Amino acid sequence: MVFSYQFDIAGIMVILTSLICAWIRPGLIKNFSIYLKLIIVLSILYNILDIVTSVLLQFKKPGTWLITYIFLILYFLVLFMFPYRATLYFYELCGEKINPLILRGSLALMLLLATFGQFFFNFFFKLDRNTMEYIHGAGFYATFIYYLICVFSVGDCAIKHKRYLGKLRLRLLLAILVITIINVIYQLILPEQSITGLVIALSVAMTVVVFCFVDVTVDELTGLNNRAGFIRACDELMHNQDMHGYSMIKIQVYHMQELNERTGMENGDKVLLMLANNVKYCTDIAKKKSVCGRIGGDTFAILTDSEISITTLSKTTETDIVQNPFTGMDYAVSFYAGGYRLEEGDTDIDSMLDHAGYALKWVSGNFKTNVAFYEDEIRHEDEHRKSVEQKVRNAISDREFKVYLQPIYNSMTRERVSAEALVRWIDSRNQMINPADFIPILEKNGFITELDLYVLDEVCRMLKSWRDKGIEVVPVSVNFSRVDVDHPSIVDDIIATVDKYGLEHSLIKIELTESAFNDNMSLIINVLQKLHDQGFPIMMDDFGSGYSNLNMFKDMPVDIVKIDMYFLRNIENSEKGMIVLESVVHMAKRLGLQIVVEGVETQQQYDYIRKLRCEMIQGYYFAKPMPSEIFPDQVTAG
Ligand code: C2E
Ligand code: CA
Ligand code: CA
Repeated sequence: MVFSYQFDIAGIMVILTSLICAWIRPGLIKNFSIYLKLIIVLSILYNILDIVTSVLLQFKKPGTWLITYIFLILYFLVLFMFPYRATLYFYELCGEKINPLILRGSLALMLLLATFGQFFFNFFFKLDRNTMEYIHGAGFYATFIYYLICVFSVGDCAIKHKRYLGKLRLRLLLAILVITIINVIYQLILPEQSITGLVIALSVAMTVVVFCFVDVTVDELTGLNNRAGFIRACDELMHNQDMHGYSMIKIQVYHMQELNERTGMENGDKVLLMLANNVKYCTDIAKKKSVCGRIGGDTFAILTDSEISITTLSKTTETDIVQNPFTGMDYAVSFYAGGYRLEEGDTDIDSMLDHAGYALKWVSGNFKTNVAFYEDEIRHEDEHRKSVEQKVRNAISDREFKVYLQPIYNSMTRERVSAEALVRWIDSRNQMINPADFIPILEKNGFITELDLYVLDEVCRMLKSWRDKGIEVVPVSVNFSRVDVDHPSIVDDIIATVDKYGLEHSLIKIELTESAFNDNMSLIINVLQKLHDQGFPIMMDDFGSGYSNLNMFKDMPVDIVKIDMYFLRNIENSEKGMIVLESVVHMAKRLGLQIVVEGVETQQQYDYIRKLRCEMIQGYYFAKPMPSEIFPDQVTAG
């Protein structure tokens, strides 16, 4: 018997472990369904009652019968409630309705028997007065049948919803089944020693651990599906029914980050919860089965039939719904939604989300409406973007990108001291496509890093071949996009490329545009510092065009600034333009930076720049960007 206590105490320990898990992620336990919470409570109760009854059964005295009976009844009540609740929870998890007759009926019967059966006909056990031992009654076999009913219900539901449950949960279920079978066998061999408490505790603990840490499909904040849960639920829905008339809708809070910053994270969370309720409501009232989830920090998604989707959208995107509850909040919250109407043969959930996302993006830049579907103009635009992407992919492999060089001159001696590498796309029909037409697209899809490294490689190859031929080389600056900085191996890739050609690092200047300097400053500083430490000169392009925090210069490893050509456009007829340019130049000088002025087109501008004593000049007045083959011949300006 001592043996059996150990098991029960072990059971309690396991439950405690699972509670600690839940404590570590309180958001998740809060959002656990009421059924799962009840299961946890019942399993704790079960373990306590199991110990108490085992102790009471030891006394075997007629005097303690009544109290023993009462505790045993409690014990049996919990014992029968437990699998029922667990089954209910499982049905809820799969979005399935319980079969009221079989399951509820058998629970009711068992509860009745547990309460009264013992009194009238020693249903569960009786005390053999000769041996003073307890003997099993018919109730034990009834319990067994009742358990089997629960197990079959769960099994049937699991087979039906195999797709939604996924591998992990099915394995969990299988593991629970196996330990339950072991328990039954154990009980048959050693009837006096119970490990049922341990088995129940283990099952609950495993479930909690799997749902809390391993297979998290629920969003902690809102209790809706998270991205993984949503995709799983969509997959199941699509697999089980005809999706004709359905739409995938993505909804986003407008400027969530700003909202958080201005009104605090707590209000941000409130807004998310409100939107979550709205989304949930729309899913619940849908005629056909719909699923929803929070698939990103500020983004929700619904897969629903489109009859109601328009009302759904207008409901969830009405600005004033959210404004009212927060008095004192001076921030108008609004939502945007983009939708995609499913077509015959659509199966890829990611691409549905992509389409809806594209419509959403489109709508967020549009002031007239806050709802749009992936149709007509939007679809056309997206298809264009995709075709450019495809062309770029081919262009990289077909080497259609050419590197042009625009010389940079010393403003006093007119000697060529440097050059900027500018990419040109010469397509298969020999037409030149300007960077402005494809760079923004490549920045969006991340291809830009590949292209920038390709340009760097070409530049290094050129410099190396000139050097091998005895031609004098000048440092060349290579443009890097803001997006490149996010690339985890960008520093290593740059170093490896330059080292591959055995060139000194000072020959390659890293040119990053000023607008990039505002984004994620610490990451940018980190990347630039590493490159600077490696001996690459760092240049800030389009200086003065952005809205940089001037204060940041003290932390920036910048060597050269390139003054934006916009300033020159302004000076010719404008006194004020001159003042601005002069003060920008003055500041750069005081910070000890070298200066390049770009976009110099006229003699007049050139004279003016010379007066300002800026070291270097780049512009059409001296030379336009040229194919690299003719670059070695253009040594001096004009
Ligand atoms: P940017 O880096 O500011 O490059 C200077 C742009 O000004 C170039 O345009 C150049 O041809 C043009 N330019 C030079 N002198 C003059 C002048 O006197 N007057 C006028 N009006 N324009 C002048 P381009 O080559 O069309 O490049 C446009 C932008 O595309 C570049 O602006 C840069 O941001 C981007 N870009 C070009 N090549 C690359 C590249 O390899 N990688 C990345 N990430 N971006 C690149
Ligand atoms: Ca540049
Ligand atoms: Ca520039």
